[in-house]
Amino acid sequence: MDTSIFTNTALISGVVSFFLTYYYVGVGITLGYHRILTHRSLQVPKWLEYLIVSGGYMCLMGSPIVWVAVHRLHHLKSDQPGDPHSPRDGFTHALYQWMFEMNKYQSDDEVKSVCSDLMKDPVYRMLGSDHKAGQAMLCLSMVVATRIIILALFGWPALLGNVLATVTVFWSTQFVNTFCHMDNHGYRTFKTREDSRNVWWVAALAMGEGWHNNHHAMPKSAQHGMAKHEFDITWATVVILEKLGLAKNVIRPNPQVALSKRLQPVPHNVTLYHTTNEAKAKFTPGDIEEAYNASMLVTDKDEEYATAGKK
Ligand SMILES: [Zn+2]
Ligand SMILES: [Zn+2]
Repeated sequence: MDTSIFTNTALISGVVSFFLTYYYVGVGITLGYHRILTHRSLQVPKWLEYLIVSGGYMCLMGSPIVWVAVHRLHHLKSDQPGDPHSPRDGFTHALYQWMFEMNKYQSDDEVKSVCSDLMKDPVYRMLGSDHKAGQAMLCLSMVVATRIIILALFGWPALLGNVLATVTVFWSTQFVNTFCHMDNHGYRTFKTREDSRNVWWVAALAMGEGWHNNHHAMPKSAQHGMAKHEFDITWATVVILEKLGLAKNVIRPNPQVALSKRLQPVPHNVTLYHTTNEAKAKFTPGDIEEAYNASMLVTDKDEEYATAGKK
């Protein structure tokens, strides 16, 4: 028996499985749960939305409604009392402990009210809309069942690649919550009301989500990497989908906001493409002020969410 052929096949199967899984579950979270569902930064056809979001579900992110509710709360109260996962409350708290304490931060009624848009969708409703263990167990069961199918169809090497990618992407999401809000990592390009940072290695692992200061400055923008060196593979995916006619109403960074929030001097000597003098000339201080205030909105319904959060 030629064992080298067997070994090479196993290796190729494992590596291919790793990269395919990484992209599928990664984009599931960054594009699906985050940019499409939480911030409504773009629209895709419903079948494609479900396909993309399924990747996040397969990465143990739990019910989309609950994830979105937690993330909308994070934007409303970032690094202030009531933020579910601020490193100001401790590193391990921000990394994972918050997941077991969500009842302290948000009631089940608040989940439903801050996600009134997603509550209209029967598929998302079916996957759960509360902080009880049931929805997490449903997700875990589906994740395990899918891995058994992968093992049966493609064998151990494919399963190993799949699990390794899933674990890496799962933790990369938690790294955004921690390292991208800690002042000893990365840099800030924009003046924002919380501690958010742009951290290159988190961006590399979390498919663009590590450009977190940019994101907090302009939460509704579908593009998070904004300087030339800030590669954002999720944004690249959005551009391709838009070119294919599969993404519409794509929200881009607002140049007025970018100007109003820029910190000086700019770190790393980077040039943001939308902050030229030409762009500056077009806007009055009033325009910039208005855009600054508008950019603080997490979604179009931010006022409603803010009120719901106070109940
Ligand atoms: Zn944040
Ligand atoms: Zn966000």
